[in-house]
Amino acid sequence: MNKTFDIAVVGGGPAGAATALSIRRQSGLTVALVEKTDYGQPRVGETLSPGARSLLEYLEAWPAFEQAGHAPAYGNAAAWGNDAIYQRDFMFTPFGHGWHLDRRRFDADLVATAGQKGVVVYRNTLLEHVEREDGGCRLRLRQGEDTMGLTARFVVDASGKGQVVARKLGAERQLIDNMVALVAEYPAMPDADTFTLVEPCAQGWFYSACLPAEAGGRTWWVALMTDADLIQQHELRVPEVWWRLLNGARHTMARLAGAQAPARLQVVSAHSALLEPLYGQDWVAVGDAAGSYDPLSSSGIVRALDAGIHTGQAVVQALVGNRAALAQLAERHVGAYQQYLGTRASYYQMEQRWPDSNFWRRRQAVVTLAPDCQLVSVHKAVDAVAWPADLQPLEPASLLSACSTTTPAAAVVAAHPQRTEVGDERIILGLQWLLQAGLLAIAKPSTA
Ligand SMILES: Cc1cc2nc3c(=O)[nH]c(=O)nc-3n(C[C@H](O)[C@H](O)[C@H](O)COP(=O)(O)OP(=O)(O)OC[C@H]3O[C@@H](n4cnc5c(N)ncnc54)[C@H](O)[C@@H]3O)c2cc1C
Repeated sequence: MNKTFDIAVVGGGPAGAATALSIRRQSGLTVALVEKTDYGQPRVGETLSPGARSLLEYLEAWPAFEQAGHAPAYGNAAAWGNDAIYQRDFMFTPFGHGWHLDRRRFDADLVATAGQKGVVVYRNTLLEHVEREDGGCRLRLRQGEDTMGLTARFVVDASGKGQVVARKLGAERQLIDNMVALVAEYPAMPDADTFTLVEPCAQGWFYSACLPAEAGGRTWWVALMTDADLIQQHELRVPEVWWRLLNGARHTMARLAGAQAPARLQVVSAHSALLEPLYGQDWVAVGDAAGSYDPLSSSGIVRALDAGIHTGQAVVQALVGNRAALAQLAERHVGAYQQYLGTRASYYQMEQRWPDSNFWRRRQAVVTLAPDCQLVSVHKAVDAVAWPADLQPLEPASLLSACSTTTPAAAVVAAHPQRTEVGDERIILGLQWLLQAGLLAIAKPSTA
């Protein structure tokens, strides 16, 4: 059986649903939305910041959201930079409170609203394969034991960090870091506080949030956010090791009175990455598939909704021949990602309690001309880098190739062919930018 649509959206998270709704809001184009789950399993990410309301109103999804009765959230809290808790109160924003989502319900409701607006929704349907053909793309979908074909003039990759369409069509993921979450769940009292709490430790930081659970109960979701290689190095997946680390996070522990080492830990991907390219002849990526953000920002859902609205508008434009709309969309996205990398760097710079920890060093290292500041490139590819305009005409590729083997930063500056043209300071800033983007690393001094 083969079905034909103008547009196929792969992924029924907030980005996919918002894109489908946005397309339908502006056009009569036929849209299919393909989602591999039935929203039965827990979903990651629960705090919705207050600014989401205007986006949900634009998408005509606000009435269903209001009816769902998501719990109000009055802010986030962190013991970042020192042991004292700092609360960022949503009530001081112009929008009032945010929400603690029942995330399964939130995602399922958005997709149901898309269905009411004429989007044909395929739940429990996995995208297995996609390939380009004349005038669009052909998708192979799996529903249980059955296979189904679908053709579309244009495909939107809203599949989250998996990027299942874009990567099959040849785009590549540029990893900024390799963060993962090691998650345990604990029962929560009905009156447990609703703040999402962030508390750093030597190997990363703990994230705890109180989420809706089965039968109207609530669950503490406690995650150690760390790097994939550090899990192996420090055996962090062993529940007792994870638990010992958690015992040092006193504010988080105080929420979990009576808790013990977990029986098992779930691993959830939480890396920051940018896709390159962000669109092709007949496809575009949106939400986490286009660029994923450190969960520290607690902004992925709002960004996904906002990006979905703009992507829907650009796709409608592209299908009437205005392909510049896709280029403008990509430019906007890369600009926002560049801004995010700067903010991320300054946040991590604020936490200086573990100067010897690789997790923190990676995120806050500073390039200096001291002889022990030795640089080495981590990634060779540089064309996806959102290279800041104020660093031009300095070539990022020239900096990376100068560090293809471990080289002192002072030597890179001294030998750089554009030194006279751009000056030493801009070369140092360029190296610093590549370091913060994860493309360069500071090599560990040799102990020999
Ligand atoms: C630990 C952690 C905590 C976070 N906390 C917050 C928070 O508090 N607030 C916040 O705003 N953000 C948070 N985020 C980020 C937020 O969850 C994401 O940014 C957001 O979910 C992105 O939405 P999306 O629609 O792009 O992708 P997703 O929500 O990942 O949706 C992708 C969809 O595609 C479907 N899919 C995948 N592959 C296929 C396939 N082959 N076929 C069909 N369907 C497929 C998936 O089932 C899913 O429904 C957090 C992230 C992490 C890792």
